[in-house]
Amino acid sequence: MLQSRIFIIEDDAIEAMDIKINLESMGYEVLGMAGSGEEALRKLSQSRPDIVLIDIVIKGAMNGVEVAHKIKNEFDLPFIFLTSHSEETTMEKAKITEPFGYVIKPFDVTELKYTIEIALYKHKMEKKLESRLQYFKNVFDHAPIGIFHSTLEGKFIRVNYAFSDMYGYESPEDLINDVNKTTIAEKLYLYPNRRLEFISTALEDDKWHSHKNEYVRKDGSIMIGELCFRTIKKDDGTVKYVEGFVEDVTEQKELEEAQMKTEMIAWDRLAEIDGIYDSSPIGLCTLDKDLRYIRINENLAQINGIPAIKHIGKTPREIIPTLAEKIESMAKQTLKTGQPIMSREINGVTQAKPGVLRTWIFQSVPFKDILGSIIGISFSVLEITEMKKVQQEIAETVKKLELSNEELQRFAYVVSHDFKEPLRMVSSFTQLIQTRYVGKFDKEADEFIDFIVEGSRRMEILLDDLLAYSRITSAEDKYKEINLDSIIEECMFNLKLAIEENNVEITWESLPTVFVNRTQMIHVFQNLIANAIKFRGNNTPKIYISAQIEEDHWILGVGDNGIGIDPQYNERIFEVFQRLHRRDEYEGTGMGLFLTKKIVERHNGHIWVESEPGNGSTFYFTLPFENPVTY
Ligand code: ADP
Repeated sequence: MLQSRIFIIEDDAIEAMDIKINLESMGYEVLGMAGSGEEALRKLSQSRPDIVLIDIVIKGAMNGVEVAHKIKNEFDLPFIFLTSHSEETTMEKAKITEPFGYVIKPFDVTELKYTIEIALYKHKMEKKLESRLQYFKNVFDHAPIGIFHSTLEGKFIRVNYAFSDMYGYESPEDLINDVNKTTIAEKLYLYPNRRLEFISTALEDDKWHSHKNEYVRKDGSIMIGELCFRTIKKDDGTVKYVEGFVEDVTEQKELEEAQMKTEMIAWDRLAEIDGIYDSSPIGLCTLDKDLRYIRINENLAQINGIPAIKHIGKTPREIIPTLAEKIESMAKQTLKTGQPIMSREINGVTQAKPGVLRTWIFQSVPFKDILGSIIGISFSVLEITEMKKVQQEIAETVKKLELSNEELQRFAYVVSHDFKEPLRMVSSFTQLIQTRYVGKFDKEADEFIDFIVEGSRRMEILLDDLLAYSRITSAEDKYKEINLDSIIEECMFNLKLAIEENNVEITWESLPTVFVNRTQMIHVFQNLIANAIKFRGNNTPKIYISAQIEEDHWILGVGDNGIGIDPQYNERIFEVFQRLHRRDEYEGTGMGLFLTKKIVERHNGHIWVESEPGNGSTFYFTLPFENPVTY
């Protein structure tokens, strides 16, 4: 064990020496001695003893009590007063300095030793206690949770940093100063009355009580806190103070609220989906694996003629026995294969409309749980009874229309065919009159004869066109594989005169073999080539026939360098009897392109023109590679 070192303050040099000798004989080390307070303080600032012996009455500016004060405050050293009975009044003053012991002179050596040892021990213990207290103060001050001690009436005694921080104050002192101007309830509670309520429950026992409470921070913002507190009581049962802690749960609360909101939204959505399900114009239901209704919407319940609620837990066999077999077969197939049945037409009679045969489209899909195992079947049912009826009516109307169309075509054929004969008679006899009798009557009569001849000639052309049309639309189509080269050659042969008269140049690239009706195809090309010659410009007429492939069809073109067509008439020219010129400018009936279009459409193609006035025109039409025969 270390030898304790002692410092002696004694103005009587002999006495001081006597004490020194005694102390050393007891095994202590005397670190130094001073005769006055000033000297002692000077020496103590250089060397540090374990304990100081101070004579209460010393010479110099300071007495022993004053020196003791300084030693305690500045050096934090334990000290013992050396005194005599005659110095009792000074002793009283000395007590204030809380000395670690007194030794009354003349002292006995053993007494001195004990007093020193007790003083050293006491000092050591005090130090220990102090450091413990410091430790707990540290824990209190810097705990991560807000801790407080307050009076019952509502003033803070102490709070830690986390606490003042939580309420938006700079330091615990800042908070205490501000709050204690009024009370905790008034300053920090959003609803001050609640504190009374809290305290009254806590007064009944010593247990911890907790409450969620709304607080107001220094900046006025609201904080939700979880308050946990208890009352600490004295022996007589009265409250000493209130201790507790507060945890800021604002975010947690906000999170909870957000979660609740999300949940509410989810429920709303679900309700919305339920609403859609219930008001769907399609019948919907779900059956479990035992084919019992789990869910059914209003529409299907109405189809079945039984309230929705009465379906639940029952099977289709119990609800709609007339359709049960078909529904069960669909359900079993879906359960077995796990595959949906996209559409199955089912006929039957239900309780809703007894005696009425109705038709529905049924669809079944497997109903799976979140892990993907099939736990039932969902059906959707669309009633098509009315639609079917309408479809049937349309089909009947189409049939009737077709019949009347055929009759009309036959009529047109008969009329145009049978009219031809008498008309030819009229026309040949008027021509005869013209050659024989022109110039034999007056000038007016000659003019009348010309009109009759011209009229009957036009009538003949019109009848020919009408006949051609009725032939196209009523005659049976005979489709063959035909090389278009041969068709162009035949057209050129038919138009030989016009070609030669007008020096027409016709060129074409090698043309494909197509599956067409030969006569009709000759009509198409011949009409287009004839038009190209008829509507020529001032230059030598040049006609170019082309063929190109696109996807699944040919695009054939007949181009010329003639007068062209104003684009606004691109559609009109294909209508029956539509012409862009007067008859005295260009001959014609306006049937040609109409017939051409009809023929192209019968070959499943379409026709159009690309042209610029004054710069020629090209008529294009398509012919599919695979030409299905249409009658
Ligand atoms: P038509 O030749 O008897 O007048 P079409 O039905 O064959 O009747 O043609 C309708 C109209 O389309 C013609 O009157 C003419 O104005 C215009 N047309 C047809 N082919 C050509 C062409 N190659 N160039 C310029 N105009 C044309």
